[in-house]
Amino acid sequence: MDLLLDPRDLDRLDTLRRGGGLTLVPTMGALHEGHLDLVRRAAAEGPVVVSIFVNPTQFGPGEDFAAYPRDLESDLARLRPLEVAAVFAPAVGQMYAAEGGARVRPGDRADCLCGAARPGHFDGVVTIVAKLFNLVRPDVAIFGRKDAQQCLVIDQMVRDLGFPVRLIDAPTVREEDGLAMSSRNRYLDLGQRERAVCLSAALSAAGRRLEEGERSAERLLAAVRDDLAPADSVEYAELCRVPDLQPAERAAGRVLLALAARVGPARLIDNRIWNVNDAGVRETGLLAPGENP
Ligand code: AMP
Repeated sequence: MDLLLDPRDLDRLDTLRRGGGLTLVPTMGALHEGHLDLVRRAAAEGPVVVSIFVNPTQFGPGEDFAAYPRDLESDLARLRPLEVAAVFAPAVGQMYAAEGGARVRPGDRADCLCGAARPGHFDGVVTIVAKLFNLVRPDVAIFGRKDAQQCLVIDQMVRDLGFPVRLIDAPTVREEDGLAMSSRNRYLDLGQRERAVCLSAALSAAGRRLEEGERSAERLLAAVRDDLAPADSVEYAELCRVPDLQPAERAAGRVLLALAARVGPARLIDNRIWNVNDAGVRETGLLAPGENP
């Protein structure tokens, strides 16, 4: 496993690129099983490059950029047993030369949910992902469905700007009690950790209501809000169409139920995606080939 600390070191990927299938797994480090699952899926596509970079431009003022956990040595130790060809872990100064530099602007899928709650967040995300794509030049990139809006915003960027990269969205990896794995779960104390499970529990309960025939977004979301009572506050709970993320009044076709809530110091997000049609209710992905126009 080659450690590349400088964008100039990326020449060392040339031989890997020639074989095709080079697959990028972008992360901000503090790796957990969710990240490692992406890496294992990536290995099925071709040689794997994992990037580790806590991207300052996707954090807003007052967010946890400074406090975000960073531990490159332990991340490398977790990656070494896996099939990883290279880790790209540049410093901030190597990725952003100066204030006022060029940026990529996301499309309209970034306007709602986390984009509305965290102004500028997706500008930072698409800028760093575009830069990583240009530097690493992967054939494939894998993202987690846990950040569903992020997957769809990047998908829109790739289509609209013509990046020659195939995207894969991987299912959310969860703790045994259902909590979606996240680097931010480290911020939770024991009591907060117990309350944090209300997000995934609310999503599961919504899935059961759908299976029982409920289709009204208003009623589904009212029940979700009740189920989120253990959280300290709810930032949003919305039912949206996939892939355009417009609000859905009824559960029909592909829909995303997306939640963001605060528990103690942590801002947690979670979601489920279902395809609802005459045949019933089926969990589905975001970027399956042929499913998105
Ligand atoms: P992050 O380090 O939080 O920026 O995440 C890096 C990548 O891992 C993103 O594509 C995330 O969507 C993905 N990811 C984070 N948590 C999970 C999880 N629990 N299951 C699957 N993928 C995840």
